[in-house]
Amino acid sequence: MKFGTKAIHAGQEPDPTTGAIMTPIYQTSTYWQKSPGDNKGFEYSRGTNPTRQALESCLAALENAKHGLAFSSGMGATDAVLKLLSPGDEVITGDDLYGGSYRIFTKVFANYGIKFHFVDMTKAENVKQHINSNTKLIWIETPTNPTMQIVDIKAVAGIAKERQVLLAVDNTFASPYLQNPIDLGADIVMHSVTKYLGGHSDVVMGALMVNDDDLYKRLWFIYNACGATPGPMDSFLVLRGLKTLHLRMKAHCENGRQIAEFLKTHPKVDKIYWPGFIDHPNHDIAKKQMRDFGGMISITLKGADLQETYRIASSFKVFSLAESLGGVESLINHPVSMTHGSIPKAEREKVGVTDNLLRLSVGVEDIEDLLEDIKQALS
Ligand SMILES: *Cc1c(COP(=O)(O)O)cnc(C)c1O
Repeated sequence: MKFGTKAIHAGQEPDPTTGAIMTPIYQTSTYWQKSPGDNKGFEYSRGTNPTRQALESCLAALENAKHGLAFSSGMGATDAVLKLLSPGDEVITGDDLYGGSYRIFTKVFANYGIKFHFVDMTKAENVKQHINSNTKLIWIETPTNPTMQIVDIKAVAGIAKERQVLLAVDNTFASPYLQNPIDLGADIVMHSVTKYLGGHSDVVMGALMVNDDDLYKRLWFIYNACGATPGPMDSFLVLRGLKTLHLRMKAHCENGRQIAEFLKTHPKVDKIYWPGFIDHPNHDIAKKQMRDFGGMISITLKGADLQETYRIASSFKVFSLAESLGGVESLINHPVSMTHGSIPKAEREKVGVTDNLLRLSVGVEDIEDLLEDIKQALS
């Protein structure tokens, strides 16, 4: 099946009892057992729920994976991957990461004796220098949040395979419409479903997709034992959101391209980060591993201090100033004070996350209105 057909149909059959075309919201915590253990495959909704199972099958299909697991947030999904590790294990990850990932690595799991190396992953070779016998996991984000660095998934997967290290890819920014890390050799794909997959900024959810049966079993154990699983109502909302993922992504990419091109030559814009530009440092890799370049764009404002950056960030009328991304509505974000507030100044400035950086999540509104709004806000 092709992508759009999977987005609408995968994991979903007419309801066997009523014929309902849409997957019912099985709003139940528990299930009847005729005698102990004699049930229809469902016992308790922390572990299994039919609405969530339909969603998990659909999510797996979209990433060309065998198994999907939904979590109550993206961080809940990340947490489950890290719980595969033991004290003394080491992780190699990028130097430009979602702030919450940096925070859970350094402020939670570092306390449990896990060591993290933050390296420039834009050159896959750099990963090699940090691998030793304790390395158990490589964690990639690409494109990165917020500077849109591109990491060569296939090249890092080759290194990971050779050294028998697990490779997990946070595919939130690309969405499965643009990029499928498992096809490129990753073991685990992680999503903040809150973003493009949900698509309507009305749900917080996460997901993991894997091919390997044993890895799936280990992750399912953590999922059920630790319990960060989402409820049936949220599962239904995401199933509904997924049905238009391919249509939304097409529109995000088209609007993103026009806005990136407009901002590139704007006199108030200093740097612009968008992987679709030929002069983006890893444009060739982006072209190879992504189907298009998406609707996430970051810019720095020429000569703007923090006050001026705040003033401009607050002067948009169609774009809303807010955290998050990937919804149908356009959002503008100030990473330093919002999504990346937990990263020390010296660390973030090394990779260009400066006070005058703004991140745009380009929505699917009419492009004329979006361009008009940017023009007036930057005037
Ligand atoms: C939002 C986000 C997360 C965290 O997901 P939540 O659903 O907010 O817990 C992780 N990675 C990236 C790239 C994100 O944008």
